[in-house]
Amino acid sequence: MQLTDSHGRNINYLRLSVTDRCNMRCFYCMPKEGIVNKGHHAILSYEELLLVAEAAVGLGIEKIRITGGEPLVRSGIVAFLEKLSGIPGLRHLVLTTNGLLLERMAADLFKAGVQRLNVSLDSLHADTFAEITRGGDLNKVLAGLEAAEQAGFPPPKINVVIMRGVNDAEILDFAEMTLVRGNSVRFIEYMPAVKEDDWQRYCIAGDEILERIAGRYTLEQMDKGRYAGPSRDFRIPGAQGSIGIITAVSGHFCSDCNRIRVTSTGQAKGCLFSDEKTDLLPFLRPPDREGLTRVLQGIVSGKPERHGISQDGYVHKNFTMSQVGG
Ligand code: SAM
Ligand code: SF4
Repeated sequence: MQLTDSHGRNINYLRLSVTDRCNMRCFYCMPKEGIVNKGHHAILSYEELLLVAEAAVGLGIEKIRITGGEPLVRSGIVAFLEKLSGIPGLRHLVLTTNGLLLERMAADLFKAGVQRLNVSLDSLHADTFAEITRGGDLNKVLAGLEAAEQAGFPPPKINVVIMRGVNDAEILDFAEMTLVRGNSVRFIEYMPAVKEDDWQRYCIAGDEILERIAGRYTLEQMDKGRYAGPSRDFRIPGAQGSIGIITAVSGHFCSDCNRIRVTSTGQAKGCLFSDEKTDLLPFLRPPDREGLTRVLQGIVSGKPERHGISQDGYVHKNFTMSQVGG
């Protein structure tokens, strides 16, 4: 069954956040002191998350990405993923992680039925990595990448948030990873999440990233996959991995959006940047499957046509990416 919103977009992808906690403090995502974690009761239980996933798949969602916060810090995550992967009709179960715990968890994640991993990695230099993540250990993430492949995963897709003056000198190094290591790399434009007056100084448009890569390599544009969503994908001839660009801020983005989101506290959102959210708790406590399906259908129908972020006109709202799930 195809799920279509009122702007004709096929919605096949749910980003499901399982926690707002994290074991890193990336400066673009969280304040230094972290965020006030929601109490245990405010966070959806695994049973409740499963109800949400089942309702979404029943409606026509085919791909679920587990995100957070850092999904691997939530205890019991592997058993939950195993249940999730058994939902009939779910074609793709994927997970985004910062990779810190991957070395010891990769084999269990693979056995649980996770099909693909995205690992966020913003620098290949230990000091820059520690600066961006406020203390993260690059070597642990690199060991996690190795462990994932040894466990049987395809080379993880690398998510890189490119920021001018911080890690933009590494654009070509990341592009080379698609040739040398076979990982696909996705460059994400820096988005204003944590409140910062002068946030535009970090922004590098996707087109500039592509131009810099094209200065050294030929880039072939790839056909859009069914689940690609807003990413524009390219390949250096001969490379095993692809190069993707997510131009959330500079544009060319919303018309291809294929996703909805549910936060770890049960707030459903049609758009990452919209203030509008719908509380799913009344349909979870106690469980009301029909009501849940109806309300998720409403999120899809009411999905806004586009977000209001642009480098010039956006009035900064302080929202925490770790709570929404990126
Ligand atoms: N902790 C996991 C991780 O870092 O991969 C999953 C959650 S994280 C919120 C999901 C994605 O959002 C990461 O790839 C991260 O780089 C991205 N993200 C967070 N804040 C961002 C921002 N301000 N601009 C662009 N991307 C951001
Ligand atoms: Fe944590 Fe991911 Fe946010 Fe970094 S981007 S602080 S790893 S949730």
